This record gives sequence, structure tokens and C-alpha cells, in this order.
Amino acid sequence: MTDASTTPPAHVAIIGGGPAGLMAAEVLSLAGVRVDLYDAMPSVGRKFLLAGVGGMNITHSEPYPAFIARYAERRENIAALLQGFDADALRAWIHGLGINTFVGTSGRVFPTDMKAAPLLRAWLKRLRDAGVVIHTRHRWLGWNDDGALRIGYPQGEMAVKPDAVILALGGGSWARLGSDGAWLPLLAERGVDISPLQAANSGFEVAAWSDLLKQKFAGAPLKNIALSLPGQAPRLGEFVLTEGGVEGSLVYAWSAQVRETINRDGSATLLLDLLPNKPVDKIAAALSKPRGSRSMAKHLHGQLGLDGVKAALLRELTGPEVFADPQRLAAAIKALPIVVVRPRPLDEAISSAGGVRFEALDQGLMLKQVPGVFCAGEMLDWEAPTGGYLLTACFASGRVAGLGALDWLKNR
Ligand SMILES: Cc1cc2nc3c(=O)[nH]c(=O)nc-3n(C[C@H](O)[C@H](O)[C@H](O)COP(=O)(O)OP(=O)(O)OC[C@H]3O[C@@H](n4cnc5c(N)ncnc54)[C@H](O)[C@@H]3O)c2cc1C
Repeated sequence: MTDASTTPPAHVAIIGGGPAGLMAAEVLSLAGVRVDLYDAMPSVGRKFLLAGVGGMNITHSEPYPAFIARYAERRENIAALLQGFDADALRAWIHGLGINTFVGTSGRVFPTDMKAAPLLRAWLKRLRDAGVVIHTRHRWLGWNDDGALRIGYPQGEMAVKPDAVILALGGGSWARLGSDGAWLPLLAERGVDISPLQAANSGFEVAAWSDLLKQKFAGAPLKNIALSLPGQAPRLGEFVLTEGGVEGSLVYAWSAQVRETINRDGSATLLLDLLPNKPVDKIAAALSKPRGSRSMAKHLHGQLGLDGVKAALLRELTGPEVFADPQRLAAAIKALPIVVVRPRPLDEAISSAGGVRFEALDQGLMLKQVPGVFCAGEMLDWEAPTGGYLLTACFASGRVAGLGALDWLKNR
């Protein structure tokens, strides 16, 4: 019989100190497991902190059916993760850290002060108080022949042989914050099924904007417009014209479908509605009014309020023959085709698609090929638009991986 008082607690190594790894650390440490968390960077939670710079959108308040639909073809996998920790539970958990939240007009949920730093500070204190030891500047390099983890640190390399491992290494964007995707070959070598990392919530490039458009309007926002893909219902919002293409929240909202269309066809056509609140016949009627000696630019501005970057894009993407015909010009104003040919590089994207396929994992997020090793967070093969859906699934998956490791330790 084992004497419980002399049995050392189980030991788990967590690699990666983003929201997923920290949540796994919380679950395990609260269950009495000894947790060492290793992160390659000089501090943990760097991407989480960056997410707080423009206003930390931690989750979304929309009803569950709409919420879960955001995860598209991975909705069932994510639903299994959210079962024990959904958007409401996440909010309650944040409140438990002494941070209040509010629901913005769009239904997005933010900490009251919009920042990530106070939340991370309170959380790290709680984790340290629970005994979690955080080792920064410690990079996981793979496995030794005897199955120990290889951890590189400034003075050299060490081998660590815990009872279980949780990998929460992030996706492949913003490598300078730590998530560099260097884990891919390490897991592929062990036979883990991984879908290639691709940009998600990214901008796109066009073949080329004219010099005039670039010089005068790169960086200009297009507001109160709608975007769609052919055959799909338009979405209202805004985006920004860039030196080489388009980016911003409305573009991100379409980015998964645009990326897949480019992968399949080599390009994708976004349809821009410059006047979403005006029907095409009203626009044609306004354009047909006599303009006398006024220039076409003045006519567009006077009749329809179109000027600046909107009028410039209309010029850029049509020709004189369209401007000469009010019906055709009205149709162009309602569905101006922007042909995009490639996403911006993965490193610039808000998040990445691809990663460890759910089919390679059991219900507790343990790798079927590498028993005792669990995965969580953005390194799993799912994607979601911005709106708090990314963090919600990262937190929930960290929790499931932590619980999965606990279960595995118990049943060994
Ligand atoms: C600009 C920006 C704004 C964002 N805003 C939001 C938002 O408002 N709402 C939202 O829901 N999401 C947002 N996101 C996305 C969100 O921040 C990420 O999805 C989330 O941080 C991913 O969490 P994670 O724990 O999986 O990985 P990460 O947060 O990327 O953490 C992974 C950690 O693993 C470490 N690591 C990697 N490899 C190794 C290794 N070999 N050895 C040791 N350590 C390693 C890294 O240093 C890093 O600390 C934003 C992202 C960006 C870039």
C-alpha cells in the first residue's frame, strides 16, 4: 500500500505561457499537481498583452448557437471544449480575478478598463501562490532518446522528465511574441497529424493598386460600407485600404473564405457596396439627374456623398464607359469587385488556421501518437473570426488539456 503522505505529487511540465498554457497550469496546480511552466520568451503572455493594446476583447455575449457557429467546420470540436467553460463561465472566472467586464454595443465583452495587463498580473499572482513555477527564457527543443524533454536556457540545455506534458505553443503569427510555429516539425517527427499553418484574420493583397491610389489613399479607412463574396449576404462594417490591398475588421470577417477561395482558384473577388443603405435604382436615378457643367466628381459627391477614398476606388476599379452610364455606375457602386490574389504573410495575421488536427487527439486533448502529451490553444487546428472567439477557445482548451492530464495521471 502506498503511504499518501510520502508520495510526491505528480509533476507536469507545461510549455507555453499564453492563455491556454496558463489555464492548464491553473487546473493542475489547484488539483495539487506540481507544475513547471516553461516559456521561450523573457516573460509570459506577450500576445495576450498585445491583444489588450487595442482593447482586450475577451469573449462575446451573443446567444450560444450564433457563438458556436463562428468556429465553422470545427464547431463540434470547440463545442466539446466549451461544454465545461463557455463564454459566461469565462466572464465569471475573470470576475473572480477581481476584474469587471462589460458588453460593448457590438455584443463583444471587454474588461472594464479594456486592458489585459491587470488581468494577467492578478492571474500570475494566483498561479504563483498556487505553487506554479514559471521558467522564462526556457525553450522546448524536442525530446531526448529516453523520452525526456529537451529544454534550452541561456546557460545551456537540460533534460526534464515529468509525468505528463502540456504543449500550449500558440500558432504561427507574430513570431516576435513567441509563437513561431517551430514546434511543427518536432510533432510531425512523432507522427502527429498537423494541418499546415495559414494566415487567419489577415489582410489581403491585390495584384497592384495604381500609384495614384497608393500615394493618396493608402491607410484610408472605408466606413459604412458592406463587403460580400459572390452569392453571399453582405456584411456591414469597415476596412482600410493599404499600400498593396485591404485589411481591417470587415476583411478579417471574410478572411477564411477568401483564403480558401484563393487556395482553390488563385484569386478571390470581394464585392464592395459603397452605399449599403441605398437601393441600386435610387442610386441610378440620382446619377441620372442633369449635372450641367459640374464635374463627375462633384456630381457623385453632391448626389450621393461619395468622395475621397470611396470615389477613388470607384475610379480605380471601373472605366470611363461605366462612368458614362448611370445604370452601370449604380451597379458598380453596389458591387465593386476587388480582386485579391494572396493573404498578407502569416506573421502579420491576428491568428493562424491549421495546427494539430483534432483527429490526432483524444477527448482530453492528449496526442494519440504520444501518450502523456497534451495540446491546447491556437496550436490546434481551428480558426475563428475576431470578436473574443479566439481567446475563449484558447482558455477552454487549456482547461480541457489540464483536466485531461489529471485524468491520465489518475488512471496510469
Ligand atoms: C494583435 C493581436 C490582437 C489580438 N486580439 C485578440 C482579441 O482581442 N480577442 C481574442 O480573442 N484574441 C485576440 N488575439 C488572438 C489571441 O491573442 C491568441 O489567439 C491567443 O493569445 C493564443 O493563445 P495561446 O495560449 O494558444 O498561444 P500564445 O498566446 O501565442 O502563447 C504561446 C506561448 O508559447 C511560447 N512558446 C512557443 N514555442 C515555445 C517553445 N518551443 N518553448 C517554450 N515556449 C514556447 C510562446 O513564447 C508564447 O508565450 C489577438 C492576436 C493578435 C496578434
